[in-house]
Order: sequence, then structure tokens, then C-alpha cells
Amino acid sequence: MHTGLEEAADGYARMAAFYAERARGGVGLIVTGGIAPNFAGRVEPRASQLSFPWQVARHRIITDAVHAAGGKIAMQILHAGRYAYHPLSVAPSAIRSPITPFKPRALSRWGIGKTIAAYARCATLAQRARYDGVEIMGSEGYLINEFVAPRTNHRTDDWGGTFENRMRFPIEIVRRTREAVGRDFIIIFRLSMLDLVDGGSTWDEVVALARAVEAAGATIINTGIGWHEARVPTIATMVPRAAFAWVTRRLKGEVGLPLIATNRINDPAVAEAVLARGDGDMVSMARPFLADADFVNKAAAGRADEINTCIACNQACLDQIFTRQIASCLVNPRACHETLIVMKPATRKKRIAVVGAGPAGLACATTAAEAGHHVTLFDAAAEIGGQFNLARRIPGKDEFAETLRYYRRIIERSGVELHLGRQVSAADLGAFEEVVLATGIVPRTPAIPGIDHPKVAGYTDIVMGRRVAGDRVAIIGAGGIGFDVGEFLTHHGGHDETAEYCAEWGIDIEFSDRGGLRPVDGGKVSREVWLLQRKATKVGDGLAKTTGWIRRTLLRKRGVTMLPGVEYERIDDEGLRIRMDGTTRVLDVDTIVICAGQEPRRELLLPLQEAGRRVTLIGGADMAVELDARRAIAQGTEVALNFWK
Ligand code: FAD
Ligand code: NAP
Ligand code: SF4
Repeated sequence: MHTGLEEAADGYARMAAFYAERARGGVGLIVTGGIAPNFAGRVEPRASQLSFPWQVARHRIITDAVHAAGGKIAMQILHAGRYAYHPLSVAPSAIRSPITPFKPRALSRWGIGKTIAAYARCATLAQRARYDGVEIMGSEGYLINEFVAPRTNHRTDDWGGTFENRMRFPIEIVRRTREAVGRDFIIIFRLSMLDLVDGGSTWDEVVALARAVEAAGATIINTGIGWHEARVPTIATMVPRAAFAWVTRRLKGEVGLPLIATNRINDPAVAEAVLARGDGDMVSMARPFLADADFVNKAAAGRADEINTCIACNQACLDQIFTRQIASCLVNPRACHETLIVMKPATRKKRIAVVGAGPAGLACATTAAEAGHHVTLFDAAAEIGGQFNLARRIPGKDEFAETLRYYRRIIERSGVELHLGRQVSAADLGAFEEVVLATGIVPRTPAIPGIDHPKVAGYTDIVMGRRVAGDRVAIIGAGGIGFDVGEFLTHHGGHDETAEYCAEWGIDIEFSDRGGLRPVDGGKVSREVWLLQRKATKVGDGLAKTTGWIRRTLLRKRGVTMLPGVEYERIDDEGLRIRMDGTTRVLDVDTIVICAGQEPRRELLLPLQEAGRRVTLIGGADMAVELDARRAIAQGTEVALNFWK
């Protein structure tokens, strides 16, 4: 998993700390982020490359740290091919990808030979850098995958055309790499088993390539699912857990090598079930180790309930990487910042009150208590979690409940004194040296004539089931919550989560055609929904980079009408009167759900300040604009680590 540290100024020292912490946490084998074997192969111009002996020393900082921690580590060799974000990109054929602006140059036969040699040289240098092996990235639509699939390989020489010719490139790479590194060095080949694009491989080709890779000298085969340009979500939170284990399972028995199952395995019980069913011989996890470095040790010690689970939101990891920032984790802000955020015991223990047990308050209270402070945590609700109790009710976001399970356990372990069902006033907080207000937000009520009409409902009432929406619904506000409410109102859940997901996204479990795609089943739902915003920009434009397209596509498939540039005129018995492009129209709806943003909730602030108390605002209570759980948890953690001041 690329973290962005590969390109940071002090990145190798930080990676050493990051990986060593995971090795101490019990991980069996680490695979690094992608390192290019030559300049053309860099994902972007400043991306990391290993081609020259002088580049070896910095890798030893990592390998020495991991080995000292008792771990093993392989370096991933990644040639980006036509996904490279620079004008010197190369590919089997000069075909631009739909997700990059640069048209690649078709490699000459001489260029192909040089590229194969670059892979072998890169592996030799990795060996010199004391890695235990390399992973050759042959999936996700990068260079090797581009040679294998007819979608991107239109060559007519002996590197294109027949499958035998198209698979020559990966086979030569594995063969030459094995020759260069000798016997006692791991070569993992990451094989694209399900391309999820038109013109991808057939299943027979996947099997033939796996056998050829084995014969060429690979040690382990890892599973790759979906090209980056595929319009199918493969790791986002609505993808069911272990939803692709069936793909790895299909290859079992076809080769003698150990196979690694992958994608959306985020829980020890799920990993165990994959192994017990024989879907794979090993499991790989990437994001779960951002969320919790001690995942394996906790599982092994029977303390799985203490694991901080990856909720597959992508918000602090992939969304960061795709905007060229260093990855971290929404539920664990220390991830990739191990040398910068240091947990240490408090030198002076204080009595601290935290009001509000949403993500901000939970992070602050538990971090402060683990540092040794005496922490009392209050919430007016009967359960911890704040708005996460709404988020976890959105179909496909049930993972959010895991964060609350984790915090419930850490509250117990750290000795936080928890008072639920307790609406706190300023007078209740006299006995504390520090007061943290994590009271969250109040939903905004827009000043639209008729806003008190019985057709109007707040999003909290709809999501909590206190109000049931009619068959025709208008949603005012198309931010994250407006989209979630759209999903909530149009979801049609089945009994088998994975079958439902595959049907909705057109994944062919039978693998009858190239790429493993099939036409999508239906999609449109009977409830009619309009999703509205005042801005003239595309609806959903502000959603996150790696998941926004999924949410827009899903609602479009279900027939939701998205209208930008709307002016709200009035709500009355006829429905919602709006003005668009100079004309007025009435949306004849039964229910109008308000998702028009939020305001900070801080009625306790003034009385506490007047009483001369030390008060710190965090999360939504501090700033509601563009608030998300990532900021709430990071701020809660940071405030807790600074209480000694
Ligand atoms: P809150 O979660 O609002 O918690 C505040 C708490 O304070 C509440 O429990 C409240 O009962 C308590 N409180 C208030 N006043 C008092 C008082 N006087 N005494 C005692 N207790 C009090 N964010 C993401 O990052 N990703 C998502 O995918 C995502 N999805 C969402 C989906 C939905 C449907 C919703 C509603 C929100 C979603 N969010 C998401 C937003 C995220 O939940 C919030 O950013 C986060 O919960 C804010 O945390 P907080 O601790 O500041 O406040
Ligand atoms: P938001 O993203 O700020 O969206 C608010 C929406 O309300 C916008 O569409 C805005 O569009 C509209 N609006 C604002 N003021 C209005 C007014 N006075 N009258 C009518 N419409 C108004 O806020 P949110 O949807 O409430 O979400 C809150 C936070 O939770 C977000 O910042 C988000 O990060 C987080 N969240 C994240 C996710 C996720 O999946 N990552 C999911 C849910 C929530 P116009 O101004 O154009 O009308
Ligand atoms: Fe998982 Fe979200 Fe953390 Fe990424 S940011 S590792 S998806 S919990």
C-alpha cells in the first residue's frame, strides 16, 4: 500500500517506524508501496524508483528496522505503464487511459527488453537492500496487466496478438528476476484475477498465466481485483467483507503455489473464515494495518474486541494519496505519523470532563485516560457515538458500528468514567480542571417559507426510523448527508450481501466473459427521489475523490433525479415549489427531508467562560463547516495529548 511517505523528505525514516510498529504487532510478511524500476514506470514524476546502487542505503533504514522488530518485508516493484501521471509514460500500445491525461508511447521491442532488465535490476538492488523478497505488481491495470489484456495490447509483433504473446512480458520478468536473485528470495506475483473492464482477461487466461508464472519461478501468487479505471467499487465500505475471496478460491488447485486472498478483509474472524474455507492460503490486508498496528497480536491473544477496525471509508488513506498527500487513517491519526504523534504518559494528571461522546469526545476521552488523566465522559444519549449512530444505519456503512465497539472496549480498559443519558449543564462541571466541549452540531433549518409543514422531516428522524418517508421524496441539500439519505431511501437489501452487490455492479461470478463483467440487473426503485442543491455545479461534485463517483453512480442507477441550481420558493400541501432556470415548478412530493448542513452546538460555552473555566472546543462544536469524523478524531486526539501544558 502506497502511503506517500515514499516521496516525503524524511519518508524512509518514517516508513521504518511505520513498518517496524506493524512487525512488532505480529504481521507475518510486509509488502511495501510501489517502487518504480525505471523513470518511465514512476506513477508520477517525483515517485520513488530503485535502479541505481546509491539508492540502496535508504531502503536499508526500513529493512533493518523491520528485521530488528522480528518481521519480514518484500518490496513491491510497480511500473505504472499508461497510468503514469507524466508525459514520458509507456505502454504496449499508444492508448490513453480514461483516468490519465497523457497518451503513452508504445514501447519498441528494444524498449521492452530494457524494461524487463530494469525489473530484474530493481529486484537485485532490493535484495542488496536486505529485503526478503519482491512483489511484482501485475494487476490493477498497470504495465504488466496492460500487456496481458487485449484491451490495451494491440501489438502485432511477438509481444501482442495471441495470449501466448501477450503473457510473454510478465513471464520474462519473473524468469529474469528469478535468475537474478537466486533461489532463496521471495517473488510474489500480483496477478489480476478479475479485471472488471471490457477487454480484460478470460478465466482460462488467468489460469494459464498463473501456471506460467509458477513455472517461471514465482514463490507466491497474490490476488489483484479490478483495474483502476474499472467502474466497480472493489474496496469501498459498501463492498461486503471478503467479497472477492471466491475469485482466489477459483484458482485453488490450478497451481501449486500458495495463494493470497485479498480485498475487504478487515477482521480476524473474516480472515480465519477465508482460510478455513480454503479460499486462500494466506490473507493480505492493507488499510486494516493503518487502523491498528497491533491487529495480529490482539487477534492472537484473543483480544479481537480491542482491534480498531478499518471502516473502509478511504477518507484519510486513499483520498489523501490521490491528492498527493501522506496517508493516515480516520480512526487512527497516528498511522504514518508514528514519529510525530507520540503517545506518552501524562507528567501531571488532571481531572478532565469531556461533554459529548461522538467521535471527537471519544477520541479525546480515551487518549487522555490512556495517558493517565482522570477522565469523565458525559453524553445526553443512551449510547456512545453521536452522529456515528446515524452513519452506521446507512446501508453499506454498517462498518461504522465497529468504531463504537472499539471505543466501548477502550473506555472500559482505560478507566474513563462514562455517564450516559446525562444532559450536562455548566453547573455540573465545577469539579474539573479541564472541560472539553465535544457537543457536536445541530442540523441547520433553512429559512424556506412553509418549513414547519407536516411534509417536512429532519434527516435524523428519517434515519433513526422515527419518521417514514412517502413514495415521492425531495431531499434539500446534496452534501454527504443528502447522499446518504438518498442511499437510505432507495436501498433494496437482499439476503445474500455479496450476491446483491455483484448484481448491482455487474460482477459476473460465473466469469463467462472477458473481465468478469455482465449487464447490471435492474437498479431503478419504486420510490421517486429528487436530490437538490442551490449551487449550479454538478450534484455530488464535492464528495470524496475515491468514493464520490460510486455514490453518484449508485443513486443515478436507482433513478434519483439530481437537480443543481435550485431556488427553494415554498413548501405547502402541493409539495415543494422550486425555481430553476427562470421557471417555477412544483415537485409533488409526500416528504421533504432537510439535509442542509449543520451549525456548531455550544450553548455551554458562554456560561462556562463566564464562570472562568478552562474550556476547549473540539469536533462539530468547534467548527461545523466541512466537519467529518476524520477531523473530529484527529482534533480530539491532539487536544488530549496536550493536556500536560
Ligand atoms: P457528534 O457526533 O455530533 O457528537 C456530539 C455528542 O454530544 C452527541 O452524542 C450528543 O448527544 C452529545 N451532547 C451534545 N450536547 C450535550 C450535553 N449538553 N450534554 C451531554 N451530551 C451532549 N463523517 C465521516 O467522516 N464519514 C462519513 O461517512 C460520515 N457519514 C455520516 C453519515 C450521517 C448520516 C451523518 C449524520 C454523519 C456522518 N458523518 C460522517 C459525520 C460524522 O458523524 C461527524 O463529523 C462526527 O460525528 C462529528 O463528531 P463530534 O464528536 O464532533 O459530534
Ligand atoms: P454539507 O456537505 O456541507 O452539505 C450541506 C448541503 O446543504 C449542501 O448541499 C448545501 O448545498 C446545502 N445547504 C447549505 N445551506 C443551505 C440552506 N441554508 N438552505 C438550503 N440548502 C443549504 O453538510 P452535510 O451533508 O450536512 O454533511 C456534514 C458533514 O458530514 C460533511 O462535511 C461531511 O464531511 C460529513 N459526511 C461525510 C460523509 C462521507 O461519506 N464522507 C457522509 C455524510 C456526512 P447548497 O448550498 O448548494 O444548497
Ligand atoms: Fe480504513 Fe478509513 Fe482508516 Fe483508510 S482512513 S485505513 S479506509 S478506516
